[in-house]
Amino acid sequence: MSEPRRSVRDLLRVPAGGTGFDLGAIHPRTTPGLPRAGVVGTDPKAWARARVQEIGVELGRQQEMLFASAKVDPASGRRLLLVLQAMDAGGKDGTIRRVAGTMNPLGLQIRSFGRPTEKELSHHFLWRIRRALPTPGYVGVFNRSHYEDVLVPRVESLVPEHTWRARYDEINEFEQELADGGVTLLKVFLHISYDEQLERLRSRLDDPEKHWKYEPADVDTRARWADYQAAYAEALARCSTSGSPWFVVPANRKWYRDWAVASLLRETFAGMHLTYPAPRFDVDRERRRLLDMRPEPAEV
Ligand code: ATP
Ligand code: MG
Repeated sequence: MSEPRRSVRDLLRVPAGGTGFDLGAIHPRTTPGLPRAGVVGTDPKAWARARVQEIGVELGRQQEMLFASAKVDPASGRRLLLVLQAMDAGGKDGTIRRVAGTMNPLGLQIRSFGRPTEKELSHHFLWRIRRALPTPGYVGVFNRSHYEDVLVPRVESLVPEHTWRARYDEINEFEQELADGGVTLLKVFLHISYDEQLERLRSRLDDPEKHWKYEPADVDTRARWADYQAAYAEALARCSTSGSPWFVVPANRKWYRDWAVASLLRETFAGMHLTYPAPRFDVDRERRRLLDMRPEPAEV
């Protein structure tokens, strides 16, 4: 099975510094990097779903190497942190289930960020983020993140403009600090259209088993769609750096979204050059010790 010619990271990356970045020009129904029809066949959805399973096997192996490396060298601080941002019903939960769900749950640390509590608000906005960082050796997933702090407070005028504007630089400095501490960040914006959001929210109303997912406040947020898109566009542009780029995944088609995020994870892991660590014991000696242990110790 041939792979796309350009890496998915290259195709979906927001240019560093965001020069010329236009979020509105990225159509949420497109499928950048998907191999040509001859490879994908007549059912791209089935192809993508099968591919996610295959990639998932590789992700599991990489995750294990990360865990093993941290076990022998905890000081390296190495870990991977997937940051997921999207408008409501953008597919963060589904992506976590289908893509992160291919990895070993023992090696995952998943955190969701809702509206800050009183206590959280009394601290700097990065306080709750620092406390939620994955432990070295783990794959962390942030379901929303510190980026909310340059979105909601801006659109809802919760803080003065100079406060949220200053946060872009603060975030860039913070993410540099994370990189220095061994954290590999993968920041992904799941990009859905206004119409697709309508369909997804409507299906939550139409299906009684989805009522629990419906949040009346989402309609108020939807009313500010253009403001949120502008806030996202600026955040992605200002905080896409060469060390920690943003990736925009067209996410109207769930099967493409999952394939793209799985591919981004695989490529990001590949860039970490992980290996299984060398044993810190003499393998032959241990084998002899194990096999020469005869007879069985007496039962007590
Ligand atoms: P779904 O996509 O299924 O609706 P969700 O991610 O919206 O899930 P919720 O618990 O419904 O999860 O909502 C979390 C809410 O908290 C969002 O509206 C989000 O914008 C808000 N939020 C998160 N962080 C902040 C922040 N720092 N400041 C203000 N609001 C925030
Ligand atoms: Mg919500």
